Amino acid sequence: MNAAIFADVILPLPLPGLFTYQVPQELEEGIAPGKRVIVQFGARKFYTAIVSKVHHDKPDNYEVKQVISVLDAEPVVNPFQFELWNWIASYYLCTPGEIYKAALPSGLKLESETIVLPNEEFTDDSLLNSKETSLLELLWNHKSLSIQDIIRLSGRKDAAVTVKQLLDKKAAVVEEKLRSGYKPKFETYIKLADTWDNEEKLQQLLDTMKRSPRQIDVIARYVELSDLFINNPPKEVNKTKLLKDIPSGDTALKALIKKKIFLSDEKQTGRLDFSESESLSRSPLNHPQEEAFKEIQAGFENKEVVLLDGVTSSGKTEIYIHLIEEQLEKDKQVLYLLPEIALTTQIINRLKGAFGNKVGIYHSKFNDAERVETWKNLLNPSENNSYKVILGVRSSVFLPFSNLGLIIVDEEHENSYKQFDPAPRYNARDTAIVMARIHGARVLLGTATPSIESYFNAQAGKYGLVKLSERYQNIQLPEILIADILQARKRRQMKSMFTPLLLDSITETLQNKEQVILFQNRRGFSPYLQCPSCGWIPRCKNCDVSLTYHKGINQLVCHYCGYTIHIPEKCGQCGNAELKTMGFGTEKIEEEMAIFFPDAKIARLDTDTTRTRNAYEKIIAGFESGSINILIGTQMVSKGLDFDNVAVVGILNADNLLNFPDFRAFERSYQLMVQVSGRAGRKNKQGKVIIQTTDPKHTIILDVIRNNFTHMFQSQLAERKTFRYPPFYRLIQITLKHKTMEILYPASIDLAENLKKTFGGRVVGPQPPLVNKVQNWYLMTILLKIEKESSSAKAKQILLGYIDTLKKTDRYKSLQVQLDVDPM
Ligand code: ADP
Ligand code: ZN
Ligand code: ZN
Repeated sequence: MNAAIFADVILPLPLPGLFTYQVPQELEEGIAPGKRVIVQFGARKFYTAIVSKVHHDKPDNYEVKQVISVLDAEPVVNPFQFELWNWIASYYLCTPGEIYKAALPSGLKLESETIVLPNEEFTDDSLLNSKETSLLELLWNHKSLSIQDIIRLSGRKDAAVTVKQLLDKKAAVVEEKLRSGYKPKFETYIKLADTWDNEEKLQQLLDTMKRSPRQIDVIARYVELSDLFINNPPKEVNKTKLLKDIPSGDTALKALIKKKIFLSDEKQTGRLDFSESESLSRSPLNHPQEEAFKEIQAGFENKEVVLLDGVTSSGKTEIYIHLIEEQLEKDKQVLYLLPEIALTTQIINRLKGAFGNKVGIYHSKFNDAERVETWKNLLNPSENNSYKVILGVRSSVFLPFSNLGLIIVDEEHENSYKQFDPAPRYNARDTAIVMARIHGARVLLGTATPSIESYFNAQAGKYGLVKLSERYQNIQLPEILIADILQARKRRQMKSMFTPLLLDSITETLQNKEQVILFQNRRGFSPYLQCPSCGWIPRCKNCDVSLTYHKGINQLVCHYCGYTIHIPEKCGQCGNAELKTMGFGTEKIEEEMAIFFPDAKIARLDTDTTRTRNAYEKIIAGFESGSINILIGTQMVSKGLDFDNVAVVGILNADNLLNFPDFRAFERSYQLMVQVSGRAGRKNKQGKVIIQTTDPKHTIILDVIRNNFTHMFQSQLAERKTFRYPPFYRLIQITLKHKTMEILYPASIDLAENLKKTFGGRVVGPQPPLVNKVQNWYLMTILLKIEKESSSAKAKQILLGYIDTLKKTDRYKSLQVQLDVDPM
């Protein structure tokens, strides 16, 4: 007896575990882990699932459905990826389905539906029974139908079975209808008809064409591009290339095709550019860089991870380039992670300059078709056109690498490596470290301001530590000056939100034809409006936050849910006719700068001004070329940019950063201030950083002025130990959500009480978060703090157990529980 075959599959749903389906005999040969299959789940829903495992164990407690079809000839997910997925699921407490959804570009997954079409090549109707015939008829009438539609139109609940039979008999075919629709790209190629395939004949032809000089131009260009009579057979010529620079070439070519002198052919090509690249340039390392490079290599001998702590502009990128080169020589792949896409422009250019078309880029502003092609390119590497280096944001840890030698995590301290919503709530830096272990690869964490966690690991000897403390060409670190807001206010010297020190420095800088960067960590015009007479503040109706005033669109916007309203004409409480803007965001600073410096060219860099793919590049290019004098921005201006004419960097309000209610606020303030400061400095003159604050003696501000990372690190470490935070404790944040407080409140109390039975004082809460209502869902949080030394896997199991019990309670059924491991 033939043992039946079963497949455990991952469904693109947030359900725990795998689902088992039987593999019908005719699909047995084609089934394999990593391939996509279509399966039915629930009464009438069909999904594209991914096969995780193929086996012979018949599940005995339920009836198994059959796999309907196999979509791939080759797996689209490889074993390295499955291993990583397993780790992510168990560490970050999420389901395989959530990872599948996050990992695959949408062109490869089924957010969409399976569509059935009649097979045009099917002719033998005698093979079909009556049910099948009538269903096929239905298909022919509609040309294409989803399985749901077929069930509805045929009025038969078992229609899926018949569809399956039609598929088996090849009377119908299925197709994935993809929402963003991955379509292969076609290009036209031109070829000379065989008739003219020798020099003499071609000459005769040209002689007859004296009155059509354009056509002669086209033929001449073709001869040149195709290497006609040099290569045999001649190269195919791309139509766009052929007609480039030939005015009205299109008409001429059409005529030539009509006369059957040329033939044209559509060919499928990729969107990825593997055309020959320019000569590649790599700069030699200077002495300190060379030393660091050698130390990193030595570190990799016995450490999986090395932390490169290199001051801003020390040339870390140059070192990365040399490390990549080394991997390529060993024919290994490299993943270069960046925290945000905004950062890529300058780095893309440098990497492309060094490695040409071996570099692939992967991020969300690329369209899905390009992402699918990058994915496929890595799956099927070929000799000449495959990527060896991927430059990407956090989601690129999901790409199908098969031969990874090195992962570089640039700006490792950045919190945008952490995915916040939806699950999987993974940290790409930490995931990269696990991924490297799976591949037997190494990880380089690079930054000018190490995270407390990574530095702690380096000190503990878990990671190698390499320091690079000299800036390239010994450019001086900027001078850091404090502008005391309170004092200036007392002396009545504040002009709007600017101290005289900052304004004077900007004036001087502009006179010297140098540039200014101003940093403010709030976008929008002004954080909120307030009634001066009664204190009323307009708030979001869905969330528990005040609305942010955006002057450009003259509206109030909720930064949590996007809820937008016009500016109220009067106070909603007392009817006062005037509402005042309070505080200031980047948009307001931009406006005021224009008043103070009417001749300056000013630009703003924040998420509002960089929504489109090229907006960011444009602003950066404008600043690089000097056509912008003052650049105002949020965090975005702090990141990895390298300009050489910035004399002054202004931090408008350090208090905003320091007073943020989060245990990482001081660490982050330090990092941000140092990173923003790093943008100041020119070849021959020291740059200047001006920090405006009401608290000039704040320990973090003093650490920034003295460039004293060690002090910041040690004082923070002491606090973290006292108050039970990372790196000594692992945090798991539990967020409970419900539409009514009457359910949410007792549920959170119940869960917390239960947790306290096991974890005692390691449970904090329940408490409402800073914003305790978002999009009409009320929120409560519980924080679990687990010692680093103890088994977090066990703690997680216990936690999941309690949540399960809670959700099985009748009145808590519609409760939502989110888990965030290592929250940022
Ligand atoms: P970091 O990443 O440490 O901030 P970068 O790698 O961006 O520093 O280097 C800062 C600047 O110095 C860049 O413009 C870079 O091109 C230049 N630079 C650094 N090292 C070298 C080198 N060895 N040869 C030529 N230019 C270098
Ligand atoms: Zn809202
Ligand atoms: Zn009022």
